[in-house]
Amino acid sequence: MSKKIRAVVALGANLGKPRQQIEKALSAINHLEGVRLKAISPLFQTKAVGLTDQPDFINAVVLLHTILNPQQLLQTLQKLELDFGRERAIRFGPRTLDLDIIDYDGLVVNDQNLILPHPRAHERAFVMEPLARIVPDYQVGKHGKAAELAVTLLRQKPDEMVTILA
Ligand code: AMP
Repeated sequence: MSKKIRAVVALGANLGKPRQQIEKALSAINHLEGVRLKAISPLFQTKAVGLTDQPDFINAVVLLHTILNPQQLLQTLQKLELDFGRERAIRFGPRTLDLDIIDYDGLVVNDQNLILPHPRAHERAFVMEPLARIVPDYQVGKHGKAAELAVTLLRQKPDEMVTILA
């Protein structure tokens, strides 16, 4: 890859067979044109936040190198969500596969369809804890480093993480 950019993507699923979907999605991401997986977090089982009356999620975070620009990366990931049968009926509701760009080389983007760094990722233990496992010193926008954010979030909301899956 010529001009490699470091990006962080979060995966989540809570419908169908969430664990298998996340594992398949990881493999699919690794085969995307212009994308190379550099690190994969452990898989976590987590309680749904917001709309809590829905199944637990399986979450993971990946570090990747990409030559795609942010919009190309978003489109590519959205296509993958559709390939996994994602329906967008309810905001914050259950989904077969959710892919969010958490950060793209620290770039600040405020487009209608893309906000970077992801505006809520730093408040989510299910993103910060997996990220902390692979790149603890990853700087999440102006909010701080992943490991510090994860410790604070888990202290505030210890029930949000359930188990690490082997
Ligand atoms: P969600 O249903 O939570 O996955 O949100 C999907 C919507 O968020 C899509 O319409 C995207 O265009 C938009 N979006 C804005 N910023 C981001 C981001 N950093 N990563 C993924 N989707 C984003």
